[in-house]
Amino acid sequence: MRNQVIVMIFLGVLSTPFVQAQTSASVLCESPYQRICDDNKQALKDRKDHIDLIKAEIADEAKPLAQAEIAKLPPLHGIGPVRWLGQIKRWFEEEKIRNRFIIEAAGRRLGPLESQAVNQESVTTIKKYLKAAVESSKFDRYVKDNFKGIIEGVTVGNFMDYAERAGLKDGLLAQLFQASCGMDGLVDNAFATESQGQDYVLICPGWQISMQIDKQATEKKTFNTIVQVLSHELSHHIDPSKFGDNYKDFIACIASNHGNALKADMITKLHCNITPQECNAAKAQKHSGEIVADTWAVEAMTKYMHDNALLLQEKEQTIEETFVRLCGSGDEGIHPDDHFRLEHILMNNPEVRAQLECKSAPSSRGAYCGY
Ligand SMILES: [Zn+2]
Repeated sequence: MRNQVIVMIFLGVLSTPFVQAQTSASVLCESPYQRICDDNKQALKDRKDHIDLIKAEIADEAKPLAQAEIAKLPPLHGIGPVRWLGQIKRWFEEEKIRNRFIIEAAGRRLGPLESQAVNQESVTTIKKYLKAAVESSKFDRYVKDNFKGIIEGVTVGNFMDYAERAGLKDGLLAQLFQASCGMDGLVDNAFATESQGQDYVLICPGWQISMQIDKQATEKKTFNTIVQVLSHELSHHIDPSKFGDNYKDFIACIASNHGNALKADMITKLHCNITPQECNAAKAQKHSGEIVADTWAVEAMTKYMHDNALLLQEKEQTIEETFVRLCGSGDEGIHPDDHFRLEHILMNNPEVRAQLECKSAPSSRGAYCGY
């Protein structure tokens, strides 16, 4: 009798989290946007406020130090094109100084950034999962090997690494950095670019800071976030901007199944005056780079979840922690909005649904388009 009571209590304890996991996983299966974005609204706002506050403190600390260093630079000489070139070089130099002081100030505030947030080990692991996703795709041997080689060859680093490698010559890329990371480098972003035949994924100081803040929670959580963001950025080096022919069927599938859920920018809108099919084809084409990168990132994520034999509840948590960062993002004609990325890409993926043990088919979202 006594033994039976103990067994019953034990079973009761064990079954509670399992039941909860089943219930919340099914909400995630059926209404991912509601589960990931709507249910986390307050937490998202609190996190953003917290990060904004820390960033402001870091910027306040870095600014006067950087300005003092910039003031020591020699005055510019020459006129016309000589001066113009000098100004570009100077801007790049100043940007380097500003970023160095932001990274140093953030390091003092949060601990060393580069080594913890994106280290070589995480990059190697993420490349491994992304290459595994490429390997299990339907592309032929030549394309697979080419894509895998490209992924392997991408240098992932922060702006400082890039500035060291690229020297001070590349004014255009400095401008690109400014556009992507913001004037002070504090925009929460990472981006893919190329310089002198080398592929890069560059990480803005702002992204490192926001990851570092998450890192204070758990190391796993930080890694989960990195898997999606870095896989996405790495995939831009194998996206339709260079390999359009390889993705023709994929883009056609997106156009006919999901085109209605994409928005048209000013130029794409011209196609929408012709036929609905023409409109959807143009929208799918314009969004193709981002949809392709997102689809690869989701594939890499499922390889990671599968390889690490996560429990159902952990998988659900991983998906939520990773994709909550997309909440609030709109469609400017190139990036699909948060709703599209969660409903049409992430939770339409059959492997994600299998991992989460989703019971029903996601019929309302249109057919899944994969590689
Ligand atoms: Zn992208």
